[in-house]
Amino acid sequence: MRTAIIGGGIAGLAAAYELEQARQKGAEVEYTLFEARARLGGCLASEIVGGAVLERGPDSFLSEKPAAAELCRELGLGGELTPSNDAERKTYIVVRNRLVALPDGLMFLVPTKLIPTALTQLFSWKTKVRMGLELLHPPRPSDHDEPVAALVERHFGREVVDRLADPLLSGIFGGDSAQLSARTVLPRLVEMESEYGSLTRGMLAAHRTMRLRAKEAARKNGAAPTSVNPRPATRSIFTALRGGMQQLVDALTDRLDPVSVRLSTPVTGIEKNADGWKIEARGATEFYDAVIVASPAWAAGALLGGVDAALGEELSGIPYSSSITVNLIYDEARLGRLPDGFGFLVPAVEGRAMLACTFVHRKFLGRTPPGKAVLRAFLGGMKNEALVAVSDAELVAIVRRELSEILGEGVVGLGIEPEHAQVSRWSRAMAQYAVGHQERRQRIAERVAALPGLRLAGNAYDGIGIPDCIRLGRQAAKELIAARSS
Ligand SMILES: Cc1cc2nc3c(=O)[nH]c(=O)nc-3n(C[C@H](O)[C@H](O)[C@H](O)COP(=O)(O)OP(=O)(O)OC[C@H]3O[C@@H](n4cnc5c(N)ncnc54)[C@H](O)[C@@H]3O)c2cc1C
Repeated sequence: MRTAIIGGGIAGLAAAYELEQARQKGAEVEYTLFEARARLGGCLASEIVGGAVLERGPDSFLSEKPAAAELCRELGLGGELTPSNDAERKTYIVVRNRLVALPDGLMFLVPTKLIPTALTQLFSWKTKVRMGLELLHPPRPSDHDEPVAALVERHFGREVVDRLADPLLSGIFGGDSAQLSARTVLPRLVEMESEYGSLTRGMLAAHRTMRLRAKEAARKNGAAPTSVNPRPATRSIFTALRGGMQQLVDALTDRLDPVSVRLSTPVTGIEKNADGWKIEARGATEFYDAVIVASPAWAAGALLGGVDAALGEELSGIPYSSSITVNLIYDEARLGRLPDGFGFLVPAVEGRAMLACTFVHRKFLGRTPPGKAVLRAFLGGMKNEALVAVSDAELVAIVRRELSEILGEGVVGLGIEPEHAQVSRWSRAMAQYAVGHQERRQRIAERVAALPGLRLAGNAYDGIGIPDCIRLGRQAAKELIAARSS
């Protein structure tokens, strides 16, 4: 089976790796990985500057989704996996230029602890009373999708949308809670509303069930029942690689057959004929039995529109946001004392360019040399696309000004020059799961099923994070191999 893989981001690389593994085990598999850029990895890109790991794109993945750590272990990178420093985990929200810590007991945007919720300065008393009354919400079956903002506002009010839902979702998707699909992004909350009415009651019930299950498991394993913790003690929330995400890209690249990888080779046309697939790149045409399209959905839509116009339209209809990261390395001795914790999120209502800032040297230990601090700002998103066109120097100046206004002139003032500044732009890189995404996905799946030998992979479909992209890439390759041998 000859397979063309279009796009060498993490999804396309994972697909190529799976095909290469099958080839080495004797399957009749050949593949070509076409990548438009001069390098593989897509959004995954790290640089080491003066011993500090600077991530241009993602800095880690969620530990609870196994596909990424599993792949790293398979590639011999198990010893490089680095847990987030959760003992110091604390995140702030900027409220009228002040940092307010997220209250303890928040689960998926839902407050579950009375005292921290009552005491937090994140919300007004009016909102806190509303949070109490939320316990009385009657069950409400979900008959249609809606924006995350509508679901959250119905339960907790506008302030919780502005100060919590919006900044958290901007930090993950570069997204806008008024557009993101509740069914896709917060499916557990939609289910809880149907079953319990109150999201707080639903969350507490889920928590109780988890504790009971953990107790039961501990009893079966002979452990003391008092040592119950719903999350295994060893698992951190995020996992990074000691030398950066680039390690994963390099390890995958090393496993591929170099002859099968074509860099700086954008695919410009896909046609389907009776025998298979015709791929056009750099003016040449080649024939394949199968094709995995692992480019962003807007590029997939443009390529597949000639094969199936409706499929092309569905793919092109998936919105994307652009984002920017700005990494600044400082001599720690020149900075004032940064607040404890991993960093802060900036709600859109604050009217700033920055969406978030991570204190990188705190989040993952051992990736920044002693005596240095790395601050990483995240900008852009659905509400601020125009920033991508702003020059590097101006972006650095904006970030430095906002940092000094938010953290204080004495902490990271404009007089304190960073030792190094790095700007990275990611244009239309983050898919947005807009209202109706599940239905769109279903329609796409139906059209793809009618085109034998075609598979799609990437962040536009079933999870924006690295583990989901790896899972989909590998699954696409496995399905093609299975279909061939059945
Ligand atoms: C700034 C930023 C921070 C992030 N942080 C995190 C995080 O901390 N944790 C996490 O899990 N996720 C994070 N994400 C999300 C995650 O990194 C991405 O969703 C994921 O890497 C996307 O992988 P992909 O392979 O689907 O797409 P991409 O990485 O976009 O790769 C697609 C590739 O297709 C190529 N291509 C496009 N058109 C063609 C063509 N016609 N022919 C050939 N090649 C083509 C592109 O050049 C590109 O290399 C972040 C994303 C960004 C941008």
